Amino acid sequence: MNLKNLAEKVSVLNAKSRPHYKLYSQKEKEILTKTVKLNEEVGELCNDILGILKLQRRAKLEKFDKRNIYQEFADVILTTMMLAEAAGVDIERAINDKLKTLEKRIEEENRK
Ligand SMILES: [Mg+2]
Repeated sequence: MNLKNLAEKVSVLNAKSRPHYKLYSQKEKEILTKTVKLNEEVGELCNDILGILKLQRRAKLEKFDKRNIYQEFADVILTTMMLAEAAGVDIERAINDKLKTLEKRIEEENRK
């Protein structure tokens, strides 16, 4: 298979899957946009983690400001909360439920 054949196959797949990607409401568009934004913010946080660990190329490290990581953590948390609100998820309840699950799991593992 060459790149042209692959592009043709991808084009057919795109045409077949396109109806599944229709957005029907403003709410769905908002949720999708905020999901993409969250991924962007997670990527920026990852970039700063790589910078702190000096795992970036030199040109990036020269521009790197380690104080920016505070902004990126805040961006991830705030964007997550915005997405949760858009999706109708009670984030306080979600976190409390998850904490209980984690605490229970740790207790059970410590008993073994
Ligand atoms: Mg950011």
